[in-house]
Amino acid sequence: MEPEPDVAIIGGGPAGLAAANRAAELGLDVNLFEKQYEIGSPVKTSGGSYISDMRKFKIPSKYYNPIRKGIFGTLNNHVEFNYRTDTLCILDTRSVYQYLALRAAEKGCNVHIGTNVREILLDKNKAVVGVKANKANKEIRLASKIVIDCSGFASISARKLGLLLAKNARFGSGVEYEAYVEKIDKRTIMLFVGTDIAPTGYVWVFPLSDNKARIGIGVTRPDSKVSPLLLLDKLISDRPGIFGDMGKISPVELHSGVIPIEPAPSRVTMDGLIIVGDAAGQANPIVGEGIRPAIKFGNLAAEVSSYAIEKGDVGIRSLQRYEKEAKRAANYNSIALKLQRRMAGYSDKDWQRAIAILKNLSEKDFLNLLRADFSKSNMFRMFTKVPSLLLKWDRLQA
Ligand SMILES: Cc1cc2nc3c(=O)[nH]c(=O)nc-3n(C[C@H](O)[C@H](O)[C@H](O)COP(=O)(O)OP(=O)(O)OC[C@H]3O[C@@H](n4cnc5c(N)ncnc54)[C@H](O)[C@@H]3O)c2cc1C
Repeated sequence: MEPEPDVAIIGGGPAGLAAANRAAELGLDVNLFEKQYEIGSPVKTSGGSYISDMRKFKIPSKYYNPIRKGIFGTLNNHVEFNYRTDTLCILDTRSVYQYLALRAAEKGCNVHIGTNVREILLDKNKAVVGVKANKANKEIRLASKIVIDCSGFASISARKLGLLLAKNARFGSGVEYEAYVEKIDKRTIMLFVGTDIAPTGYVWVFPLSDNKARIGIGVTRPDSKVSPLLLLDKLISDRPGIFGDMGKISPVELHSGVIPIEPAPSRVTMDGLIIVGDAAGQANPIVGEGIRPAIKFGNLAAEVSSYAIEKGDVGIRSLQRYEKEAKRAANYNSIALKLQRRMAGYSDKDWQRAIAILKNLSEKDFLNLLRADFSKSNMFRMFTKVPSLLLKWDRLQA
């Protein structure tokens, strides 16, 4: 009889690829299923992230554009944050994901592209024991000791097992052009808010290299019903504010995607199952930043799987470390979720007040806000600079 493979991973986004790499590195027998025909394509993300994290994850620097300056505000009032060193980065996500897939394959992972996982297989005790997938018209059944669900917004296991708390009632919907841009500083990212350009969301300009940038708009559903693509086209044809100084803008690719902005599922582990990344609601909802948590928790899922498999018990108790860490992150995210909900309803006057507050904060404070890092020491530093924030913070936590 064939030995049972160790791990089946659903989804070849950053969560699944990180899990596959780490699991293969730990000597596990890994199968990864991706329904698209190409890893990293179509692009569904803008790739904004942080250099320190990418270094920690061993992503080669040739796959990202380093950023030193951030601009945040409305079209007529903004604040600038200048960093002494390259701090943020814009990932060439297609290359990063392909790189991770190639490294995983090199370490022994079987990558199955064009393979759609249709079902999570359960035994009579409702423990997860494998997956059923389709490639073309052929059905594949794969038993595995652990299934790691990294299926993104689709979140197939959480949906099937009834773990979603909110059935994705609220989500971010974004579109962006990757474009030739005649005049752009490749070391500066820009984020703009305001009911005129991005009601309930924001506009981003993320440079990838000289004369190449991703310009996009995200809105929150169902708070807003407007089409982000129509807003984006209007922005590029009207060229309000700073967009008027960019010279020719000529799109070469259109990307779109959705991201959950709801509380995490009630559990992210079950007997034989770990849920990771967007499928587990792990993205930071303030700016919809999910690549960093997806990789972090993908790595952790692999380590916890390796521990459980070695122990010979893949039950929920052996997966506790993952559940605990994910809960801690979800608690942080729950504050960010409340903040996101408030910001989605901001009027232009509210934004002017928020920008006035941001003008009192340091580069580091702004970074911590972007990362939704609400640790006590960070918050204390901010309250001493802007005491009125304390009241807002208390209201947010109520
Ligand atoms: C417009 C937009 C812009 C964004 N910008 C940023 C940003 O700048 N920075 C940032 O950090 N994050 C950003 N995000 C969020 C980020 O893209 C996600 O949080 C991140 O991709 C989550 O990774 P994941 O691996 O969990 O899911 P995904 O990246 O969604 O990957 C899931 C994978 O699973 C596959 N899949 C799904 N169902 C099945 C199935 N049944 N069988 C097989 N395969 C399946 C999908 O095809 C996909 O490849 C953005 C999101 C959007 C929508």
